[in-house]
Amino acid sequence: MAKTVVIDTPECTACGTCVEICPEVFALEDGAEAATVIQPTGGPEDSIQEAIGSCPTSCIHWQD
Ligand code: SF4
Repeated sequence: MAKTVVIDTPECTACGTCVEICPEVFALEDGAEAATVIQPTGGPEDSIQEAIGSCPTSCIHWQD
């Protein structure tokens, strides 16, 4: 199975950094308390990796 991207929602501060870096995969609804993954298996891996590295609470992870 392909690895998927997940957000550890309780840790997310809804800062929007991941959405800025990789809007193909992450989204943040107006007023939401956490970002969501809209494309868990697709998307540009480089951007996903950059988002993981840039998340201030390190709450984005790959899951096998
Ligand atoms: S970068 Fe991290 S803390 Fe910020 S919205 Fe994305 S998942 Fe949440």
